[in-house]
This record gives sequence, structure tokens and C-alpha cells, in this order.
Amino acid sequence: MALLLETGAQTDIGLVRRKNQDSFGIDEALQLYVLCDGMGGAAGGEVASQLAVDTFLEIARQELGFAGSEPVERTCRALKRATAAANRTVIERGRREPRLRGMGTTLVAMRLEPGRATIVHVGDSRAYRIRNGSATQLTEDHSYIAEQVRLGLLTQQAAAQSPLQSVITRAIGADLDVLPEVQQVEIAAGDTLLLSSDGLTRHVHDEEIASLVSSAATATQACDTLIALAKQRGGSDNITCIVARLLE
Ligand code: CA
Repeated sequence: MALLLETGAQTDIGLVRRKNQDSFGIDEALQLYVLCDGMGGAAGGEVASQLAVDTFLEIARQELGFAGSEPVERTCRALKRATAAANRTVIERGRREPRLRGMGTTLVAMRLEPGRATIVHVGDSRAYRIRNGSATQLTEDHSYIAEQVRLGLLTQQAAAQSPLQSVITRAIGADLDVLPEVQQVEIAAGDTLLLSSDGLTRHVHDEEIASLVSSAATATQACDTLIALAKQRGGSDNITCIVARLLE
């Protein structure tokens, strides 16, 4: 049995960047969602993020037979394999095409099954669960700044001002031994799951995410209002949101 969901997704170039290097993909039947935020000059960023999304979905589809519940280990393994495949594909393409050398991308993805969400991530794109009007960040950023905060070497306030915010410590396309972080969280009717790129979370606080998502009429409207607020605050980067609401 699959979950009853209402989903929306939106991406926006923002107000400063000349290209949108974010990509996302959804497999409604498998209740599988992936978002990538590419980096690298020339066309590298767009190519890396789109290639990672496409490869991730292709491999996850082979590994996950159907919507609904599967053994926990199988879902985790599927998401890890799909992430590793995305990584290999981005690295191989970068090696073949000199103009794309050095390209990379973040990746955050989730598979929803009754009672649980399985989330995989590499880099600083995030997953949130919004429940009863508050937002819980489920992923820890693989970024230099977030690691300094976790180690107690930097305060949250100093982190928000740091010029090093875009330095990530894990990326798809950087290293064949990429280490994806996989986790499972409990989900229930009434919850909303959000995947977003850092173009949203640089500008919009967790409390604002919670209140905008909770008050939106639809998942699509939630994406639109989140993006609108990020742009109102400067829209310094590309902004992408995927919202999935678990219906009663
Ligand atoms: Ca970004």
C-alpha cells in the first residue's frame, strides 16, 4: 500500500545568478524525490546536477520494485547504490569532457513508505520534516561551516555571516569513495517533508519554513511562497523546493 500524498516542486534561478544549476526529479509511483545543486564553471553545474538526478532515478527504479513498504535494508541499499551510481556517472563524464572537469553537485533524496522516510544526502542540500507547526532539519550539512559549528568552533551567528558558506565537504563528482549519509525517520499523516537547496535556507529561517509550509493551501503553493520569500530577501542563489504532504 502506498501513502496518500500531495506533492509540489518548483525551481527558480533567483535574482543574481545567470544560470540555474539546480535540478530535481520525482517518481510519483515510487514516492521517490531527488534534488541536486550543481557547481562548476562553464556548463558544469547544470550538467552535473541533471546527470545526478537522472542517474539516481534510473538506478533507484531498478532497485526499488514498487511503491509501498519494502524491507528497511533494501530501501537504504537502493538509495546508497543510486547515489554511488550518480557519483560515478558525474566523475566519468567530467573525465571525458575537459570543459566539464571539476564539476560536482550536492544530492538529497527521499523515498516515502508507510510510517517512514528514508533520506540520503551528500553536501548541503537539506531535508526537513514539518510537524505541528515546527520544522526539524533532518540532514546535517556536509559543509565546512556546519562542521565548525558542530565542533563548537563557530557560533551559529558567526556561521551565518561567514564568507565560507558555500564550501562543502562532500560532493557528488569529487571522489569515487563518496560517503552518502542515509537515515530513516518516522513519518505520520499531517507531516510535510521538504527538500531544498541552500538558495532557500540561506535566506529563510527554519521557523519561517514551518509557518509558510503549514499555512499554505497546497504543496505547490508552499513551494511558491518559500521561493518568493527567498527572492524578497535577495535571491542570491538558485532556489529549489520539493514539498510532500502526507494526507490524513
Ligand atoms: Ca546553491
